[in-house]
Amino acid sequence: PTQPPADTDARALEVLSRVWGYGAFRDVQADIVRTVVDGDNALVLMPTGGGKSLCYQVPSLLRPGTGIVVSPLIALMKDQVDALRQFGVRAAFLNSSLPAEGVREVEAALLAGELDLLYVAPERLLLGRTLDLLERAPVALFAIDEAHCVSQWGHDFRPEYGQLGVLPGRFPDIPRVALTATADDRTRADILRVLDLGGAAQFISSFDRPNIQYRVANKEGPKTQLLDFIHAEHRGDAGIVYCLSRKSVDQTAQWLVTQGIDAVPYHAGLSPRERNHAQERFLNDEGVVVVATVAFGMGIDKPNVRFVAHLDLPKSMEGYYQETGRAGRDGLPSTAWMVYGLADVVNVKRMLSQSDAPDDVKRVEAAKLDALLTYCEAATCRRQLLLAYFGEQRDEPCGNCDICLNPPRVRDATREAQMALSAAIRTGNRFGAAHLTDVLLGQPTEKVVGMGHHLLPTFGVGKGHDEGAWRGLIRQLVSLGHLEAGEHHGLSATGKSRALLRGETTLMLREDSLLPRERVRKRDR
Ligand code: ADP
Ligand code: ZN
Repeated sequence: PTQPPADTDARALEVLSRVWGYGAFRDVQADIVRTVVDGDNALVLMPTGGGKSLCYQVPSLLRPGTGIVVSPLIALMKDQVDALRQFGVRAAFLNSSLPAEGVREVEAALLAGELDLLYVAPERLLLGRTLDLLERAPVALFAIDEAHCVSQWGHDFRPEYGQLGVLPGRFPDIPRVALTATADDRTRADILRVLDLGGAAQFISSFDRPNIQYRVANKEGPKTQLLDFIHAEHRGDAGIVYCLSRKSVDQTAQWLVTQGIDAVPYHAGLSPRERNHAQERFLNDEGVVVVATVAFGMGIDKPNVRFVAHLDLPKSMEGYYQETGRAGRDGLPSTAWMVYGLADVVNVKRMLSQSDAPDDVKRVEAAKLDALLTYCEAATCRRQLLLAYFGEQRDEPCGNCDICLNPPRVRDATREAQMALSAAIRTGNRFGAAHLTDVLLGQPTEKVVGMGHHLLPTFGVGKGHDEGAWRGLIRQLVSLGHLEAGEHHGLSATGKSRALLRGETTLMLREDSLLPRERVRKRDR
């Protein structure tokens, strides 16, 4: 506060170029740095790769005392600290991986004012011992990285983060800067509340990643679809392929290798050595494809990832945005590609309903999943939807997503939806998509006849469309909440479907999910 702003800017630039060798701050970085150096609080919402770290690192060097960085990413702390030390920054970390001797050394350095930056895991910070220590030490600021972890509404809730509310109480005069790459309105409100940032300056960058092309396709044969995609558009490129289970990670990676793709698996079931190896290869070699569970990617900073592929649904829009955001950090054209099908929707919905989580958490997660499914089924610009989810209004369609590039035709599918819903209801709301499709198509299978479903008025009413079309329609009905999956994948009509059944609302669907028979056959050939 003793320095006029212009002088703060000059000193910040001097540190930026002397320590990091960068010639200029990016857009908002300079404003954030100025705010924090001057001792004010800040909330920073910036997409992954936007350059959040410098927003607290530079102020930590400019203010007297040590910048305390709270981060949940224990596994990455050592790397981050090593990287800073290479720039000559006096950095250290405190977490459970450090032996007692190491802890004592770090604490002594902190008290002696010999540290510029100290990375601390939240559970470590919250120990009475650490808080007492910080009261005696010169502290420049608190940076709360991955601040969305304070929120249950976030995709990454950490109970310890919820307790960071002690900071404003115990250290009211030390500036707090909360940073995150993912925060919708509710998460943002939680961050402001928990960290008491009501009066803080808010720096909200656009979440748009114009160089990423968003695409979502119907899952038909995921491995082959993936291979075709890589061959057609990303031969020899580095990429990340996300799968839900460790098993499918292993199988997909193995299969890609047999197809001549330089692929490596990555998941929590591998030994630390194998995981390190995969990570090193991905970072250092050209054109490596990592097949991974969501465990992979947090904190990975590789600029030239050309594609991110999802073979399974992410959990939420936040997850999707964060995972796809690992593509194209260098600003060059990149692809976010995803396939999903009815079975995925049913599976994740069932996993959700059967989880042990408390009911309010389940409700939140179900709502998040629904937002993602709506995105998947979109007939309008995906980027508009994605940005709208993060509270950003965009007036024009983007021109760089599958919907913009290849607009699907929409048609009124109310009648077909009524047929499918009545097939579910008349068979007792307990059969899966395959059986309902048989009934609609008038297939006298053993099961259909055995159940007497060939006698229903619905039997055979759907002959005008083929199996794929009905599967697609049923998927959309599940995604949009008109049908819901219960035990054994049985589908039942929901309350939401009533208006549709009575003809009070109409259902406009993408035509690809309900093509007339002839066109589907042609396309398959
Ligand atoms: P985030 O934490 O927002 O994902 P980082 O802080 O890791 O992003 O920064 C992403 C990359 O951008 C890093 O390689 C960083 O060195 C680089 N970077 C950030 N700010 C600048 C800048 N002002 N000039 C040049 N490079 C920058
Ligand atoms: Zn678009």
